[in-house]
Amino acid sequence: MNDFKYSDGQLFAEDVAIADIASNIGTPFYCYSKSALTRHYETMANALTCVNGRICYAVKANSNQAVIRTFAKLGAGADVVSEGEVRRALFAGIPATKIVYSGVGKTREEIRFAISNNIGQFNVESVGELLILNEVAVELSKTATAVFRVNPNVDAQTHDKISTGRQEDKFGIDIDHILDVYRQAAALPGIEPVGLAVHIGSQLTTLNPFQEAFSRVGLMVKTLRAAGHTVSRLDLGGGLGIVYDGEQPPEPETYAALVADTVGKLDLELTFEPGRVLVGNAGILVTSVVQTKETKTKRFVVVDAAMNDLIRPTLYDAFHAVAPVNENKSKNQQSAEIVGPVC
Ligand SMILES: *Cc1c(COP(=O)(O)O)cnc(C)c1O
Repeated sequence: MNDFKYSDGQLFAEDVAIADIASNIGTPFYCYSKSALTRHYETMANALTCVNGRICYAVKANSNQAVIRTFAKLGAGADVVSEGEVRRALFAGIPATKIVYSGVGKTREEIRFAISNNIGQFNVESVGELLILNEVAVELSKTATAVFRVNPNVDAQTHDKISTGRQEDKFGIDIDHILDVYRQAAALPGIEPVGLAVHIGSQLTTLNPFQEAFSRVGLMVKTLRAAGHTVSRLDLGGGLGIVYDGEQPPEPETYAALVADTVGKLDLELTFEPGRVLVGNAGILVTSVVQTKETKTKRFVVVDAAMNDLIRPTLYDAFHAVAPVNENKSKNQQSAEIVGPVC
């Protein structure tokens, strides 16, 4: 959180006092640092130059227009999972050709919208989806560029609720079926199969799961080529973890070196879909204390932001740091439970 610092006990975002923003617009509000977003993006982009990777920002990490627009101006593409996110990405200035459309639940209508808008890549998650994609493409006299999301059966060793690459997870096509599905796709008039995709989870703090997944997918690329298929693209997803409370996630350079090591020599165009690592530590939620309340066993501090504004702790037991806007006002510290207005 380099861009959120104290000066004389007052919390600042870059050069702006948080208390000033609060007195102008009220609380609660989110405050994002453009300089942090830019630095995170550039650190990632620079690290990935060694593998010539392109970045498609995972919009679900934060779909705020100003945030997407900041990345659009830096040259990012977008990874989206709904028509709404396609619209947000286009509206923020990301060209359609730089948008990759992921997700297990693309509806026929969403697919029609995406093909009509010439979205650059569909990350296909099932045979059923492949068939709809083909039908709609043929109807519109277009060809959909498709990669196939592999379920590599790798445990990302992150929280259960943000793991996506194990056999029991809903994502991707079983790696044992990829050859079949690719063959099927190659025979469809509306589909141009160009490669594979993989995304095994979020907030990964070790490289091992990436190493396993990328190696398996790299082998699959060779298998497909040996069977006579063209494989020119590989989408390696997102998932790189960040620091919330002393975690030690791999540096982008180390991650990039692993990519080079596992799939770097396969002559593939590489795509990355980072989300959290770009935005997670570039913003804060500012809230005010509304009330304090003591029961027989607990002291509660009631604030004006609720769990729907900061969902991670409720959703998957996540740790989130809490800090005062004015340090000078918080001299007499006591333990309390911080709670919001909703249940
Ligand atoms: C969530 C998601 C990402 C981004 O994951 P982060 O952990 O935020 O980097 C990338 N690709 C897909 C398909 C996703 O679902």
